[in-house]
Amino acid sequence: MSSLRKKLIAGNWKMNKTAAEASSLLKDIRTAVGQRNDVEIVVCPPFTSLESAAVALENSVIKLGAQNMHHEASGAFTGEISAPMLRSLFVTHVILGHSERRTLFGETDKSINQKVLASIKNQLKPILCVGETLAEREAGTTLTVVKTQLEAALEGVNKDTASSLVIAYEPVWAIGTGKVATTEQAQEVHAFIRGLLGKLFGEQTAQKIRILYGGSMKPANAGELLAQADIDGGLIGGASLEARSFLDLVTAAGNVS
Ligand code: PEP
Repeated sequence: MSSLRKKLIAGNWKMNKTAAEASSLLKDIRTAVGQRNDVEIVVCPPFTSLESAAVALENSVIKLGAQNMHHEASGAFTGEISAPMLRSLFVTHVILGHSERRTLFGETDKSINQKVLASIKNQLKPILCVGETLAEREAGTTLTVVKTQLEAALEGVNKDTASSLVIAYEPVWAIGTGKVATTEQAQEVHAFIRGLLGKLFGEQTAQKIRILYGGSMKPANAGELLAQADIDGGLIGGASLEARSFLDLVTAAGNVS
């Protein structure tokens, strides 16, 4: 654990919650969170709920994230959303390279790199997801896969802006499956990622970058994971859709801060 890094709990709502549902969930979360600032909290609703979420979160400590974006600022890209559009809705973070985007929507390391560079250029903090499949873990290639994804996605990122990056290690086999990585498995990859960040950006900067764990994190398993030296928070799918479990995760992060 390091005092340089405030724990971060980010909720990835995926394709869930209408605008009205987002408002109602955030009202409950906001009331319970109050002005607490020992843990950084980000919620990432779908695009169509960002505006009502921004209204519900006005003057709150809770920050708003998106789940994806296009790397261009505007143009003939039917169905896409750009960084300036997100900024206009008070979005501060954006999840990039989630494994569902990679496997279901054909995102590549190259396209994710373009998005990372565009997000930084537009003052959006990327939450960059990396992680191996079950087959890759069983083949013993976890660290190589993570290294390739990370280096490709971060190509061209300037050392001066790197400390605002957030990396999410999400083993694909643990996402939405109820199978959580053991603390040893997660800490091993997190420490490896921090080492890579040190090589890319220098040790001092690497110590400032938050590395989140994602993959079936729940109140019951969060305490142990969040207590690991290089686990600086969580990217939460299923358990972020209900106020009680999300708030319990915030509490768990606060308890180890
Ligand atoms: C995710 O999709 O980023 C995630 C971690 O999902 P879950 O918590 O449901 O496994």
